[in-house]
Amino acid sequence: MHAVFDGHNDVLLRLWANAAKGADPVEEFARGIESGHIDGPRAKKGGLAGGLCAIYIPSDGLVLKTPDANGHYVTPMSEPLDRLPSLDIALEFAAIALQLDRAGAWRLCRSTADIRKAMEDDIFAAVMHMEGCEAIGADLAALEVFHAAGLRSLGPVWSRHNIFGHGVPFAYPMDPDTGPGLTDTGFALVKECNRLGILIDLAHITEKGFWDVAKTSDQPLIASHSNAHALTPVARNLTDKQLDAIKEGKGLVGLNYATTMLRPDGQENAKTPLSDMVRHVDYLIDRMGIDCVALGSDFDGATIPEDIGDAAGNQNLIAALSAAGYGEAELVKICRENWLRVLGQAWHEAA
Ligand SMILES: [Zn+2]
Repeated sequence: MHAVFDGHNDVLLRLWANAAKGADPVEEFARGIESGHIDGPRAKKGGLAGGLCAIYIPSDGLVLKTPDANGHYVTPMSEPLDRLPSLDIALEFAAIALQLDRAGAWRLCRSTADIRKAMEDDIFAAVMHMEGCEAIGADLAALEVFHAAGLRSLGPVWSRHNIFGHGVPFAYPMDPDTGPGLTDTGFALVKECNRLGILIDLAHITEKGFWDVAKTSDQPLIASHSNAHALTPVARNLTDKQLDAIKEGKGLVGLNYATTMLRPDGQENAKTPLSDMVRHVDYLIDRMGIDCVALGSDFDGATIPEDIGDAAGNQNLIAALSAAGYGEAELVKICRENWLRVLGQAWHEAA
């Protein structure tokens, strides 16, 4: 079994939503449940040793637009959110992450040494990530506080506009050049992340925003859960030009398991073969090399192939990669070492 450190999941969203209905997040994660994708027992079974766990402020009523006769769709962008209700929700997510850590249900990690120690101790290595920074005000003061609470990664935007920049819609087929780039406040956010040592995630941002981060940030370019646009032309996937820039700075792309981002037809359909995932990994490695490709499942945030099902089935992908010819050393990089390398760089750890 290959221990996997994964670049993106929404387990905090599920724990938060179930907590609102009376569930105990610590119990739910530690004992496990039937629904959703990640909990302690299923993560252990599937060799999911840890990952970036998103604080995400839900947009009401987001439903993927039904494709037209040609299979095309453009889901309308979600409305921008107000800051204070977003801050409240972000604090609730962070509190759950901290409660799980305090109870020993998972380990909240702030360094790659923390991650390696948690893996050694066989406890889920969680890293706090923020997917869309609606909870952060223009003065960026809240960023300092979230960093102190464990935040080590953020995407300035989700597929939604905010004071920092602009996100891409869920659309097929569509190029990621769908709108403006970073705002002045967005540029300031990038610089502050560089200063504090918070990884900047380019998933969900417009292509202009991508280039704005590329010319500003001192970190390798990271898209935590995105795939190849050449194979699946949804706006959320990365063009060859973007992949080349990621390669140049030895950044990383985490393979997203969302079927909409894997299938040639961009449809949401759990009957998506593992071969579609292998095809994207092959393409990304051909384009960028073995050091720049990793995993970013989107567990608990997307419809994923039924041949994986949930975290317990995570090794089915690794087995498919192995069958496709990837050797041990390559699988170790894809499964965890590439992530640990770029996290260490973004976090200012000595090489
Ligand atoms: Zn996402």
